[in-house]
Amino acid sequence: MNCRYFACETCRHYIDAGYRFAYWMLEDPNIVTLDHAVDVSAVMTASEYWRAEHGTEEHAQWLCRLLPKVRTFLNRHAHHEVVYRQEEYFYEDLDWLEEEDHSGRPELTLRWLVERMGITEWEQALTIVTAADRVDRPFWFEYGEPSDIEQAKIAFAKIIEDRKSN
Ligand SMILES: [Zn+2]
Repeated sequence: MNCRYFACETCRHYIDAGYRFAYWMLEDPNIVTLDHAVDVSAVMTASEYWRAEHGTEEHAQWLCRLLPKVRTFLNRHAHHEVVYRQEEYFYEDLDWLEEEDHSGRPELTLRWLVERMGITEWEQALTIVTAADRVDRPFWFEYGEPSDIEQAKIAFAKIIEDRKSN
């Protein structure tokens, strides 16, 4: 598995760390360790990783576009609990938001509904999800059992509650 992410446990936001490139530039030289807290300053000074930020010919365009966003993400969450994760971790969880969606069509995650769309009522969230194109629907709605939808409802309520107390 090659998908790699920086995830802020404090804000429950995450961003693509750059797929195999993150593996070779950060993980292989032990600058980061999978499922461990990230030393943000160590990543910030990993020059081989950031070299692709300036769009050299050897690096893919998606990577050149991604890295400035990763930099912004790491700066924003530098004093939070940032962990280096792989993809499977997020599939299990209802409570995460990807900061930069690749497709420009964000999946309607619970946190997206609350933080980006300002939804506060569960019925309202269900209405939006039901009306959405199938590809944009969250997995708990599109493929889930009734128990998954019930879990999503609980997670949704918790996100609302957390935001009130912050
Ligand atoms: Zn954060």
